[in-house]
Amino acid sequence: MSIQQRLAKLNPRQQEAVRYIDGPCLVLAGAGSGKTSVITTKIAYLVQVCGMSARRIAAVTFTNKAAREMKERVGQMLKGKEGHGLTVSTFHTLGLNIIRGELKALGYKPGFSLFDPEDAKALLRDLMNKDAQVDAEQINAVQHQISEWKNDLVLPGQALSHAGSDDEHYAARVYEAYVRHLKAYNAVDFDDLILLPVVLLKDNPEVLARWRRKIHYMLVDEYQDTNVSQYLLVKLLMEERRTFTVVGDDDQSIYAWRGARPENLVTLGEDFPRLNVIKLEQNYRSTGTILRAANTLIANNPHVYEKTLWSEMGQGAPIRVVVNRHEEAEAERVASEILTRRIKERTEWRDFAVLYRGNFQARLLELKLQHYQIPYKLSGGTSFFSRNEIKDAMAYLRLLINPADDNAFLRIVNVPRREIGPGTLEKLANYATQRGVSLFDACHELGLAEQLPARAVERLSRFTHFIDGVRRRMDQGDSLAAIRGMLHEMDYEAWLYQNASAPTIAERRMANVWTLIDQLEKSMRRDPEEVEAEESAEADDVEAAISRLVLRDILEQQAEEDDTDRVQLLTMHASKGLEFPHVYLMGLEEELLPHRNAIEAGTVEEERRLAYVGITRARQTLTLTLARQRKAFGELMDCVPSRFLDELPPDDLEWEGRADKEDPERKQARGQDAIAGLRSLLG
Ligand code: ATP
Ligand code: MG
Repeated sequence: MSIQQRLAKLNPRQQEAVRYIDGPCLVLAGAGSGKTSVITTKIAYLVQVCGMSARRIAAVTFTNKAAREMKERVGQMLKGKEGHGLTVSTFHTLGLNIIRGELKALGYKPGFSLFDPEDAKALLRDLMNKDAQVDAEQINAVQHQISEWKNDLVLPGQALSHAGSDDEHYAARVYEAYVRHLKAYNAVDFDDLILLPVVLLKDNPEVLARWRRKIHYMLVDEYQDTNVSQYLLVKLLMEERRTFTVVGDDDQSIYAWRGARPENLVTLGEDFPRLNVIKLEQNYRSTGTILRAANTLIANNPHVYEKTLWSEMGQGAPIRVVVNRHEEAEAERVASEILTRRIKERTEWRDFAVLYRGNFQARLLELKLQHYQIPYKLSGGTSFFSRNEIKDAMAYLRLLINPADDNAFLRIVNVPRREIGPGTLEKLANYATQRGVSLFDACHELGLAEQLPARAVERLSRFTHFIDGVRRRMDQGDSLAAIRGMLHEMDYEAWLYQNASAPTIAERRMANVWTLIDQLEKSMRRDPEEVEAEESAEADDVEAAISRLVLRDILEQQAEEDDTDRVQLLTMHASKGLEFPHVYLMGLEEELLPHRNAIEAGTVEEERRLAYVGITRARQTLTLTLARQRKAFGELMDCVPSRFLDELPPDDLEWEGRADKEDPERKQARGQDAIAGLRSLLG
């Protein structure tokens, strides 16, 4: 398709937004109105019609996934060399590129390292522990404060001089030391990826001129979520030429907690008085019903810019609200429904997306999807089986059923720490190879004493005896109790606490391990053969159940490798900008969506925008699910349906499983049945 044909497909306002290249342009419009389409078409327009070199164009967005999608869309339009040197990336990647190109000016050495939040936290812990013993919560608070300062472009000196309270003063001092140490380590943290380029461009006219010569046109997607530093980056680069297009939707601002400033929409108009503001009103994504739900919900928030969105996609199916007994039933329901719908509705796996508020909600769902062998892809967040604690637990299970599993042995022989070092393991491995036995069996052989010091042999045999003991108990009877006992006995929990940066993290990891064991138990109970089996056969069943878990683990690793047809699992935050034919939104409960922290902090409006983002990802059908009970802090708690459900148009909702009220639809249907029955009676 030529660019002219592509342009012709856009509506007049979109066309205007694409064609306007002489000055700053803001497209302000609701979800699914084609803002991202304007950006991608405009990139092609700039290259193919305006003759601009692709390497002079930088398009930025927020998530990696969105950047990848945008790249793909642009890739279909620009052929061969046309797209050479084009930047389509996240803000942070753009910042990283600037840092890479300006290491000298920044005073960094080549080969600098990027600290992830965990690395940064470790550094903060060291710095803070110098003065007094501090706990994880204090470290988190300071880390958050520093991040806020960086996003707001407040440097250590300014933070110190503006500090109001003692706490702020303390944080500012840590901030100062933290920045100094990062530099000494030749390292930058995540927020530095924006902050350092901005400071550099501000202070160094030569560098600024160089980058202004490099980038002639900028396009920014999801502009409502820029923070102060990000806005300044755009402003610094574009101030002279004033050639940029930013698109956004204030109703989709969901990153205030990370410093996003929706006010940047207003600031833009002040900084660039000749800003051309274009509004789009037609939604091309969702059915009328879905769009009405989104509009009705978001109308509960105050608005700076009024927007009306309409769609020509037809009314579509009603929105289903499915109430489940508990969280496991919810996960089970979503998984089994996707399975049947795929067959009945002849869809592909990739047509389904399951969205949730927090990554932990994916845990049960993953297990259910694996149970039904439904391929899925989990974005942002670590998949259940690739978590370290699950890998450890799985290695123990594997070793219990197969002592010859050397990989499992190596993974856990020193987890928790048993003072068995790499030197010992190397010698053990050599010996085992010579003798042609497994590592585990080698530990039992007398000959090992000739290869290793007595202490090392003793430590190894203490470990193998421990495992043998558990195996014996498993053979004798209640194998699950033996497995649970093993976890307690070696105090795996204490090990998690030692290695986690915060107690809550250790708690969650331990909960994951118990989920795995629960799963094992269910998998044993569900096995129909097991019901008939003799009690003495139980050990076999554990083996079978463990092998099933191992297989799932492997299947999932394979699924990670090919990027084909899979159900998408992602948080609502990560879903921004994406669309799917069928969307499931899970956990529509008070304290989950809206999140408890938001209710306490009085920021429910942001949660409503988050729900708006979630709803507007759906093209054809939307299913909302919730549980009546959910485990929190190890206890089963009653849940209250989300207030957002009350804010949706009641006539568009189809309830299922609601205990307190009869489904209005069913009631109506029954009424009609009765009428029909009466009619037939009356002839
Ligand atoms: P969001 O706010 O969720 O990021 P958006 O405004 O960026 O949404 P797009 O993703 O660009 O919206 O477009 C939504 C859908 O509508 C896409 O499938 C896109 O291909 C389609 N679309 C956009 N413009 C048109 C048009 N003029 N005609 C037909 N389809 C269109
Ligand atoms: Mg978009």
